[in-house]
Amino acid sequence: MVSKEVSRRAAQLRKQIADYDYWYYVKDSPRVPDAEYDKLFHELQSIEAQHPELVTQDSPTQRVGGKPLDMFRPVRHAMPMLSIRTETDISDQGAVAFDARVRRELGLGETAPPVEYACELKFDGLAINLRYEQGVLKQAATRGDGETGEDVTQNVKHAIHQIPLSLQGVCPGILEVRGEVYMRRDDFENYNERQRELGLPTLVNPRNGAAGSIRQLDPALAARRPLKFFAYGLGEVQGWEPESHQEILDQLDAWAFPVSSERAVVHGAQGLVEFHRCIAAKRDQLPFDIDGVVYKVNSLALQQRLGFVSREPRWAVAHKFPAEEQITVVRDIDIQVGRTGKLTPVAKLEPVFVGGTTVSNATLHNEDETRRKDVRIGDTVIVRRAGDVIPEVVGVVLEKRPAKVGAPFDLFKRLHGKCPVCGSAIVREEGEANWRCTGGLFCPAQRKQALLHFASRRALDIEGLGDKLVEQLVDSGIVNTPADLYRLGMSALVDLERMGEKSALNLLEAIEHSRKTTLARFIYALGIRNVGEATAKDLARHFGTLDNLMAADEVRLQQVPDVGPVVAQSITAFFAEPHNCEVIAQLRASGVNWAEHEGERIEVLPLSGKIFVLTGTLSMSRDEAKEKLEARGAKVSGSVSKKTDYVVAGIEAGSKLDKARELGVTILDEQQFMALLGSI
Ligand code: NAD
Repeated sequence: MVSKEVSRRAAQLRKQIADYDYWYYVKDSPRVPDAEYDKLFHELQSIEAQHPELVTQDSPTQRVGGKPLDMFRPVRHAMPMLSIRTETDISDQGAVAFDARVRRELGLGETAPPVEYACELKFDGLAINLRYEQGVLKQAATRGDGETGEDVTQNVKHAIHQIPLSLQGVCPGILEVRGEVYMRRDDFENYNERQRELGLPTLVNPRNGAAGSIRQLDPALAARRPLKFFAYGLGEVQGWEPESHQEILDQLDAWAFPVSSERAVVHGAQGLVEFHRCIAAKRDQLPFDIDGVVYKVNSLALQQRLGFVSREPRWAVAHKFPAEEQITVVRDIDIQVGRTGKLTPVAKLEPVFVGGTTVSNATLHNEDETRRKDVRIGDTVIVRRAGDVIPEVVGVVLEKRPAKVGAPFDLFKRLHGKCPVCGSAIVREEGEANWRCTGGLFCPAQRKQALLHFASRRALDIEGLGDKLVEQLVDSGIVNTPADLYRLGMSALVDLERMGEKSALNLLEAIEHSRKTTLARFIYALGIRNVGEATAKDLARHFGTLDNLMAADEVRLQQVPDVGPVVAQSITAFFAEPHNCEVIAQLRASGVNWAEHEGERIEVLPLSGKIFVLTGTLSMSRDEAKEKLEARGAKVSGSVSKKTDYVVAGIEAGSKLDKARELGVTILDEQQFMALLGSI
């Protein structure tokens, strides 16, 4: 007799798992991490094993995957696409138990030789069946519920260039190749980074990225997501009778399907254990996510003898690794200041073991993303740590949100508008995803970066002041701001590691030498956001003195060629910060100097300040034309705007010429252009 409690629990698990399945397989948007799901699934499996009368036909343990979406044409698989039994005991014991089971089921005694296994990676993506008829790709289908999948041929053809559209050489009349569609970790990161910059939703993990992309209704959109493929098996085949799994993979490789080289044929439990260990050690370095390894009995004859149980073959097992996603609680949200002043919200977590290490901090990336995911202090969240990517919060488990949860995240409010490290004002520029500290010259978090930039070749050019030295000078508290460099003496330097008297003298000399500079270099050296070398030169030329520049408002700044609202805002925010002005005053007091109005001499150049756009073919090369123009003080820009003074139109000039006409910009043909160069 089954107790009421047990049967109630089984019903509850069935309902819960079916719900999670729906979100995972149909919506590509998991509600809980896999490890959490697996726990519930195994609990249900073990209840059902003890009480077979509780097994219902619709129990999630009896079927594979999820319902096919009716947006795609349904495809009935010629051979069902099954699942693989998962071995969640991540220790060696998981491999030993599988080998023992295989031997028992094959009736092998203790003295019988070890079983031969083909070992592969367990790719974390989406299973797909590719059907080739007479060597031509006819159809690609997802697994769906195992019996019926979705026709995703168009998307596969568009988005996965690795999949051959036709097979070379002799091939079977009917060949179904099965494998995994996946997204590389770097592609996933880059995709998300771009989305974050645009303020758009990000992908939860590469697996969901792959599944979501392949099931995109718009093939053009699917094609924009970088997807890859690995082949690992077969469906229906007519006209080929391989004998082992290894032979299958070798032949697929020969037909130019991508087959992972991380595979091996091993013998017995010991071989499995070694493969598992070897891949576990490499896991972080692989360019894609895997959630374990797969062992398959190599001989197809033995596979046939072993057969299937419900949805899983008896001849294969997926031996898992520690999960790369786990759930934990957010204790607090801190804001970290990066080397360049970027402010990043970081979740302080209840420590959790994920992806092989204990994690207690996870990035929330930026304010928009924190708000979109609506992460609050007290929330239960899913944390992901894969490869050497920094751990991140991928989402909130809303069902577990406590009644007393923190307010929606507001970075400015939380910091009262001040950098948590140095107290300088923080800004978020138009079109920018990140808040930043404006105290670039002063902020301890930005010190090293600021000093390195200040001393760099195109700034104040202090030879010998590199990474290691800056590290030492800042860590020992000798130098805090660039102004401190000019107070350095022998005694402070010789005490530093690997700093002899001679190198100390050289450094002091280089620092001394740097006192005499130019206004353009000095402006560039300040490390104002969005002010590169070229803009610094323009500013120096336009304003003539540092005081003029510091006093300029955004309107005046925008009169400088190439300075738009964003750059103007960065400059005013920088000089509005008293801490920065203090450091500048100290630098001037310590004798850093330049000839004011120096840059303005360039004004006498004939084409000074004029903006040119080159289009079409000229008899000289673009580079040559550019050089000639720049030598005369002009600037060459890539696109036509209202600020453009001249468009030089060569042969077959295109849209830029149209634009110039539209805006009424002066157009020069080659002859006029040569005359202009010659005449001045
Ligand atoms: P599975 O992913 O564990 O294993 C079968 C699949 O493995 C195959 O369909 C294939 O796509 C893949 N595979 C990768 N490498 C392979 C290889 N070398 N050889 C053969 N197959 C390979 O099984 P499943 O039924 O797709 O899904 C179960 C898993 O999905 C569970 O581990 C669970 O954690 C997760 N899941 C999670 C949620 C959730 O809410 N988080 C919900 C449902 C399922």
